[in-house]
Amino acid sequence: MYLSNYFLPILKNNPSEAQIKSHQLMLRVGMIKQSSSGIYSWLPMGFKIMKKIENIVREEQNKIGAQELLMPTIQSAEIWKESGRYNDYGDEMLRIKDRQGREMLYGPTNEELITEIFRSAIKSYKLLPQLLYHIQWKFRDELRPRFGIMRCREFLMKDAYSFDLNDDDAVLSYNKMFLAYLKTFQRLELSAIPMAADTGPIGGNLSHEFVILAESGESKIFADKRIFDIKTEKYSLTNVSLKNMRNEFEKYYAVTDDKFNNKDFESKVLKNNRLITKGIEVGHIFYFGDKYSKALKASVDLQDGKKTDVKMGSYGIGVSRLVGAIIEAKFNNNIMKWPYSISPFDVAVIPMINKNDDTNLIKAENIYNKLKKNNIDVLLDDTDENISSKLKKFDLIGVPYQIILGKNSEQDLLEFKEIDKEAKQLSINEIIKILTTKKK
Ligand code: ATP
Ligand code: MG
Repeated sequence: MYLSNYFLPILKNNPSEAQIKSHQLMLRVGMIKQSSSGIYSWLPMGFKIMKKIENIVREEQNKIGAQELLMPTIQSAEIWKESGRYNDYGDEMLRIKDRQGREMLYGPTNEELITEIFRSAIKSYKLLPQLLYHIQWKFRDELRPRFGIMRCREFLMKDAYSFDLNDDDAVLSYNKMFLAYLKTFQRLELSAIPMAADTGPIGGNLSHEFVILAESGESKIFADKRIFDIKTEKYSLTNVSLKNMRNEFEKYYAVTDDKFNNKDFESKVLKNNRLITKGIEVGHIFYFGDKYSKALKASVDLQDGKKTDVKMGSYGIGVSRLVGAIIEAKFNNNIMKWPYSISPFDVAVIPMINKNDDTNLIKAENIYNKLKKNNIDVLLDDTDENISSKLKKFDLIGVPYQIILGKNSEQDLLEFKEIDKEAKQLSINEIIKILTTKKK
């Protein structure tokens, strides 16, 4: 992509309406555009990053055997009346009437709809367990939409639902998801702490929020710092291993404000290990047993001819919120550095261009073509801005690697730079090698 063709409407200054850095940067660089309160369009760069995040989320769901499907955004009010949540959900639910006067709604979550899909298809215990998910837009008419796409009204969520025969199997599904979440956030270079949480309007008895540390976060968190030292690589998807993993996490105190109890905190966590800070919730998992299956009559036949209500859990990740959360975690000293796995481009080529001498531009185009041939996604700044404003602009765009062609770039060696590190002199082949290895 040539920058002169790229739809990246960069603003000169930080927009005054944004209070936190992710919102500022996303508007400044032109990743999103507000269309009305809490509703945004995703412009090419923002959209590309979100899609990459979505794909990592998807891969980790598939790895634990979850199956992807797609439910609609608009739902009928009927099933919500069956579960009893139509009234309970309150003003956060956007209610709509169609031309026949039927009550519809824009889904804020999908427990009812997935249960209805499940109950019409699965009648026997032999077809359990089932683990289903989709990645779809949600609408919640938040009282105070704020912080850009972090707390907005229309947002992209991955929501998964598990259906099991009994509590033990259901906890196994829950634990698989727990590990999948840790792996997803690791691939996004985030350290997310699982925190014991209240179950809120979704109801139930077992729940964890996955929270990343950030000053701008809305959740207050109280934790034992040692929770950060847990290594998840040693755990696998077997029942025993997953139980050990949960036990290891549960050894350490880690809660958000709704579960906080000062007495417990002070007795369980030594002074030096206490961490009191703020965080952003990026995921939330629940086990709620037969809460919905009972109300919606989702039962299966057992071997002895009896019936039992299935045990369910639900598991959300804020895919669009993650874009902002990653900026909150990675934007430092006015430099944004996207994790390579979700970066909008693999590398940027930034030549100093003289109006009456196009040697550097030609050289840059040759490099660009070579990189492209090697499947490297490259952004070439072919504009005639001066080099220092180009570099400032790239500090905001956040492509993690740069090839800079300055005045004195030598014949064969190129200035190759990781955005927040010292430059190195390397040949184009060495650069290609580094970038292709990174991609794997
Ligand atoms: P919050 O406490 O932030 O309102 P929640 O408990 O209502 O979140 P869930 O119902 O568990 O959220 O939804 C799953 C995930 O969807 C959350 O962990 C979050 O990442 C994301 N999410 C929820 N509400 C919003 C929103 N208004 N804007 C963007 N993302 C959201
Ligand atoms: Mg909420």
